[in-house]
Amino acid sequence: MTRQAGEDYGRLVGGDRRHLWHPFTQEKTAPDPVPIVSGRGIELTDAAGNTYLDMISSWWVNLHGHGHPHIAEAIARQAARLEQVIFAGFTHPPAVELATALARLLPGDLDRVFFSDDGSTAVEVALKMAVQFHLNQGRPRTRFLAFEGGYHGDTVGAMSAGRSSGFFGAFDTMMFRVDTLPFPHTWQGDHEVERKEAAALAALDTYLERFGGDTAAMILEPLVQGAGGMRMCRPAFVHRLVGRLQEAGVLVIFDEVMTGFGRTGSLFACRSCDVTPDIICLSKGLTGGFLPLSVTVARETIYQAFYADDFDKALIHGHSYTANPIGCAAALASLELTESAETTARLAAIAGWHGEFMEAARSWPGALRTRVTGTIAALDLGTGGAGYLAAAGPCLKAFFMERGFLIRPLGNVVYLMPPYCVTREQLARAYEAVGEGIARCRGV
Ligand SMILES: *Cc1c(COP(=O)(O)O)cnc(C)c1O
Repeated sequence: MTRQAGEDYGRLVGGDRRHLWHPFTQEKTAPDPVPIVSGRGIELTDAAGNTYLDMISSWWVNLHGHGHPHIAEAIARQAARLEQVIFAGFTHPPAVELATALARLLPGDLDRVFFSDDGSTAVEVALKMAVQFHLNQGRPRTRFLAFEGGYHGDTVGAMSAGRSSGFFGAFDTMMFRVDTLPFPHTWQGDHEVERKEAAALAALDTYLERFGGDTAAMILEPLVQGAGGMRMCRPAFVHRLVGRLQEAGVLVIFDEVMTGFGRTGSLFACRSCDVTPDIICLSKGLTGGFLPLSVTVARETIYQAFYADDFDKALIHGHSYTANPIGCAAALASLELTESAETTARLAAIAGWHGEFMEAARSWPGALRTRVTGTIAALDLGTGGAGYLAAAGPCLKAFFMERGFLIRPLGNVVYLMPPYCVTREQLARAYEAVGEGIARCRGV
């Protein structure tokens, strides 16, 4: 298959290069961006008519496929009825319905929904809630704990929590201190997992003994660290960790911005871990990948610490588009699809296919640490030195595009995280391309 470029294609790329500035991109050395003009199901189409199978759900946001009519129609209906209204002193049906649905689906008394716009702001809200929760009770706590390699977004608080991801060197002076624990990353055939988990829990015990009383919260990505390289841990470990933290009065913040809404196989990772975090952050898949929206959901006990006659005890935080009605309508439509029996069956099927294809990938030369959690599968490229890795990434990206797949390695990690509408045949083709790409780019 040869990728072609036409006149529209060139015009769009030219206009882009003149006026745009892309995220996470060194504009000087990056290849030209690909102008995408439409999307249907798992397929994206560029301005020259070339198609790409979206195997990373467009940065992990898309759940049910592009252009899903059920969500598109809900958005159109809501836009015609009420597009936006101030959310201080006012409310509206989509916000009430969505908050009610989320409270029903989340475990325990995770019943209080605070809206914002994206994953980073959901995390900022959670961090501020945690600090003020303790303050409002007259017992201020200022320390935060996170996992090594965790990523929580790009605003200042979120960067601080994810500082160890190594993305934020330029902003070192802006960040506040967050302590870290080792993350017991595991994979298929890992014989060290018990030792790593025990070491992480021992480090936590030592930390809590010294600083437990000063620690406001621990924030973590349960089951899968996303941007840190699709690093996975076991549910039983998270369960034990949460038990120790909550016993020490340290709030537990689950950053499920990526893991929410079925990604890890169950509706939320906290359900697989059989715990109720004190605060949970949800975004990416919330609207099915249609609109930016996020929620920070707190337990009723957290909310009660803010519920007082005194205005100073209120959470003084908000955004212009808080609880945008169109976003809420998209989220409600997406939730209907997510909760359907069809999606439940698809989630189980995708996990099964990943397991089967990854089993075969284990024997590829250069494929290390194969791992699967729900709809997410990843492997590490064997190292041939740092220079090799720097060259292999761009080589792989280009190879996958040429073959008609949107697959973007994260450093030395190749992962697949398709929308839930993926078929077995499409996934099989993606694995075939990954195998060929690794074989081709290993030698560059
Ligand atoms: C993507 C991500 C964020 C940040 O979300 P944005 O919408 O990009 O601000 C936070 N936490 C996790 C776990 C993420 O994957």
